[in-house]
Amino acid sequence: QHESSTEQFQRAESRTAHNYHPLPVVVEHAAGAWMTDVDGTRFLDLLSGYSALNFGHSHPVLLQAAHAQLDKLTLTSRAFVHDQFADFCAALGDLCGKDLVLPMNTGAEAVETAIKVIRKWGYEVKGIAPDQAEIIVAAGNFHGRTTTIVGFSDDPDARDNFGPFAPGFVMVPYGDLAAVEAAITENTAGIIIEPIQGEGGVVIPPDGFLRGLRELCTQRDVLFAADEIQAGLGRTGKTFACDHEDVVPDLYLLGKALGGGIVPVSAVVANREILGVLRPGQHGSTFGGNPLACAVGTAVVGMLATDEPQTRAAELGVVLRERLEAMIGHGVLAVRTRGLWAGVDIDPQVGTGRAVCERLMARGVLAKDTHGSTIRLAPPLVVSEEDLVWGLDQLAAVVRGD
Ligand code: PLP
Repeated sequence: QHESSTEQFQRAESRTAHNYHPLPVVVEHAAGAWMTDVDGTRFLDLLSGYSALNFGHSHPVLLQAAHAQLDKLTLTSRAFVHDQFADFCAALGDLCGKDLVLPMNTGAEAVETAIKVIRKWGYEVKGIAPDQAEIIVAAGNFHGRTTTIVGFSDDPDARDNFGPFAPGFVMVPYGDLAAVEAAITENTAGIIIEPIQGEGGVVIPPDGFLRGLRELCTQRDVLFAADEIQAGLGRTGKTFACDHEDVVPDLYLLGKALGGGIVPVSAVVANREILGVLRPGQHGSTFGGNPLACAVGTAVVGMLATDEPQTRAAELGVVLRERLEAMIGHGVLAVRTRGLWAGVDIDPQVGTGRAVCERLMARGVLAKDTHGSTIRLAPPLVVSEEDLVWGLDQLAAVVRGD
């Protein structure tokens, strides 16, 4: 007997920890920008797995790469080298214009890896006194869920009752160059920053901030690590969000879309002077850089090397921006967009972000609220213009109160 979406949703909720508050839908299959639930109802995906599905669901090129690799070799561990490893590291290093790639699995692991590398560089290259290294981070940041990372978050939900936390992090307001400058001391090894704050609600720093940060970091011998885990890999209309200011950070932190929505793949990408501080035994991961991850990751980089996803995000981004701006004053207070990515602040009179997402779901559109009254839109870059416009029409109707 068929178990309905509602029944299966309730069964899932009764047997899992409630660390998420999902919309009441149970998805069974998906292709491109559309997902279908166990009842056969179709939904337009405007979240893309928090940007892990930039290339859409079931992309044939990525599926082909995964299927082919599954039948050949899936894991060696890094104790041995496999035949997908060199290609992946070279392709991703070239995409970033950097010498070396350190593959991990999740975004949080890439951030943890960067913290270790920045500190080690601080002691061994910059000459910071033992155990004194400081890393600057921004207010409103989101870099993942490990204890070290939530320790330098300012979101009470993320951090309350998870302490004690690791020391060595200094927080400054986001987008405030003077505050970064004032926070730099002789012990500052690096800054870890999102070029656009995704979880924060697609918060874009003032023009010139990233360029100013680049210059400041170079002058003061501080490593600039850009967390492009959500912003990077095509989402904003360029390969990296830093590209909008022609800025090249010292370390790129990548994840999400790097695994094509198929396998978790993350990486820290930097030059030899930086990643070279790690010696055998000092860092690792059983699954990091496994053959399946590398095969999919190489296919992802191959797609980005054509510039097609970036171009599409830029073109559709114009449509997204125009449609959203037309909603300001009609249930929407403000919008922030870059490429095919938007933060939409809902007028509280319309309802919470959650309520808007529930009404969108009833109209066949899946999106997710963040921070109460903001909805983040991140459609797959493969969405058709027609479908995108239809999805935005549903949002316009919901916020108008239709
Ligand atoms: N960094 C940023 C900017 C993110 O948006 C996220 C996830 O949302 C992470 C890191 C953590 O990635 P993961 O959930 O794969 O650990």
